Amino acid sequence: MENIEQLKALLAVPKNIVITSHRNPDGDAIGSSLGLYLYLNKMGHTVRVIFPSEYPDFVAWMPDADKILIHDIDPEESDELVKNADIIFCLDYNSLDRIDKLGETIGAAKEAVIVMIDHHLYPDLPTDFEISDTDASSTSELIYDFMEMMGGLNQMDIPIGECLMAGIMTDTGSFTYNISSKLFRTVANLTDMGIDNEKLQDLLFNSLNEKYLRLLGHCLNNRMEIIDEFKTGIITLNRNDYDKFDIQRGDTEGIVNFLLKLKNVRLAAFITEQPTIVKLSLRSKGDVSVQEIAKKHFKGGGHKNASGGSSFTSLKNTVIKLKQILPEYKDQLTN
Ligand code: 5GP
Ligand code: MN
Repeated sequence: MENIEQLKALLAVPKNIVITSHRNPDGDAIGSSLGLYLYLNKMGHTVRVIFPSEYPDFVAWMPDADKILIHDIDPEESDELVKNADIIFCLDYNSLDRIDKLGETIGAAKEAVIVMIDHHLYPDLPTDFEISDTDASSTSELIYDFMEMMGGLNQMDIPIGECLMAGIMTDTGSFTYNISSKLFRTVANLTDMGIDNEKLQDLLFNSLNEKYLRLLGHCLNNRMEIIDEFKTGIITLNRNDYDKFDIQRGDTEGIVNFLLKLKNVRLAAFITEQPTIVKLSLRSKGDVSVQEIAKKHFKGGGHKNASGGSSFTSLKNTVIKLKQILPEYKDQLTN
């Protein structure tokens, strides 16, 4: 498929559609997925959203979040839906290995039309149609553009707008990163429609539970290391911490960003001991590319200033490895 007209023609009749997004879905993954889901539903399609793993509590208020299928929990039903889909949307990820077993099923779904809408660097996904814009703030911003391309902005309503605005807010850190005049025009249009910024801010960012704040305190007080020479901050969590604080998926979301609040930190690493691997969540300010660090050293990737990866050695050795890598990036980190 070469152009939007072909996709428009395809979507002119009701289809079976599956929308997928990445493992550990964040606000943008779920906001873009549910925004698109609500829009395609309104157009008369049969639509399901499938994620590889569960979404965090702070997005559970989004319309129809409870109808999302989780592959880890319902693999058979998820695979069956993918197998029978006419169109599969891949949102907010750009390679099938970001979605584990769900990726294998999509890879085998040869009949389905694959549509990727994403803003990550270096797309590596066999698609029939794609919107891949690494300058976009978020995939949610691109879903707005997609609706516009489809001539579907007249279908925009409060539930769709709230999903997209929530995705934009979470991926831009409330309009701080990757913003553009184009994004603000989109946000202005959503605001004119009646999307309530303050209500969404409260739902997304002022709805923490006590457990999270206590865990954050523990991380900052007991698990934080600052390496002044390389302007790097590291927070680690071991298996004991996971037990003691009863940490569930999503409970550690955003902790890494606190390191960047330090004036002298340009590289932030949040390193956690998972049951079988060690997971790294990396953030940076300015010219330091954590995408490069994640890709080269930790089999990962993402964006220039926000990436992630994995390590297959102990937590302790992962920290040692990261520290050994820092001199390689000394110029970007200290100039
Ligand atoms: P987070 O640190 O919040 O888990 O992820 C930050 C960014 O890096 C996200 O855009 C995410 O898609 C990407 N990312 C996280 N982990 C991985 C990984 O293991 N591989 C790749 N390719 N990207 C990742
Ligand atoms: Mn995103």
